[in-house]
Amino acid sequence: MKHGLFGGIEAGGTKFVCAVGTGPDDVRAEARFSTTTPEETMGRAVAFFRAQEPVTAVGVASFGPIDPNPDSPTYGRITTTPKPGWANVDLAGAIGGALGVDVGFDTDVNGAALGEWRWGAAQRLDTFIYLTIGTGIGGGGMVNGRLLHGLVHPEMGHIPLPHDWQADPFPGRCPYHGDCLEGMAAGPAIEERWDMKGQDLPSDHPAWELEAHYLALALRTFICTLSPQRIILGGGVMDQPQLFPLVRQKTLAALNDYVQSPAILEQIDAYIVPPGLGNRAGVLGALALAQQAAG
Ligand code: ADP
Ligand code: ZN
Repeated sequence: MKHGLFGGIEAGGTKFVCAVGTGPDDVRAEARFSTTTPEETMGRAVAFFRAQEPVTAVGVASFGPIDPNPDSPTYGRITTTPKPGWANVDLAGAIGGALGVDVGFDTDVNGAALGEWRWGAAQRLDTFIYLTIGTGIGGGGMVNGRLLHGLVHPEMGHIPLPHDWQADPFPGRCPYHGDCLEGMAAGPAIEERWDMKGQDLPSDHPAWELEAHYLALALRTFICTLSPQRIILGGGVMDQPQLFPLVRQKTLAALNDYVQSPAILEQIDAYIVPPGLGNRAGVLGALALAQQAAG
């Protein structure tokens, strides 16, 4: 693997975070700014890197949907986002072209997963998932030691869930599926259902019991389909620490002892965990993508 300095861009729909460094203990410069138009936002990122020591490669961990397949003609682009101006933007190409460096390009959640694998809660694992529960819900991770890609990339936020309309009449807010996981359990769904932002709801509010119920149903699906060795839950909504014990308990109940692994049956506290890198998983994951691209 080449050494030297790396650049990372956590490209979110709300904000961009750029960093230069080699890892969690060595971040030499950092900048964050709002996501506005593509020209302005990518221009600020390029200007930031030009003002730093030169980097060997840049990693871009992006909001999506994106095209992460290097063999595809639309590789490096954000594809169909409803975010005004950003559909079909060649993010990886623009950054790599302007800076003259190799670019590692992947989803925000695969980036965070790679960062957690290098330095955080997924070290030495070969099959795990990283889910973000924020403005949307997305999942990435590794299977057999490789980041999950496939046809396009997984869309774990859009799985269907059992919906008891009597217990929870909220119809869901996904424009494509209504009451999919993201439609029912992402931050904006919590806000719309309870008429209050998640960060303003008290920690003993029934919202959290219901949130944990939906997350546990989803985790059961992911455990049964991918058999992850660990599940990392990040994103703004998981800043409610009381959610973790609720999600663990409800996931155990939903699995009903079917999956016979001590990791689940005896050590659930170490199985469903927050990111080891905390809210730095995204930007550090972008640095890890850069190192991978250079290697
Ligand atoms: P993004 O997904 O845009 O990258 P976040 O992961 O911060 O950003 O997620 C933002 C969402 O998380 C918003 O819907 C917000 O209401 C919710 N949120 C942020 N902080 C908290 C908190 N402490 N408790 C519950 N929900 C929160
Ligand atoms: Zn959906």
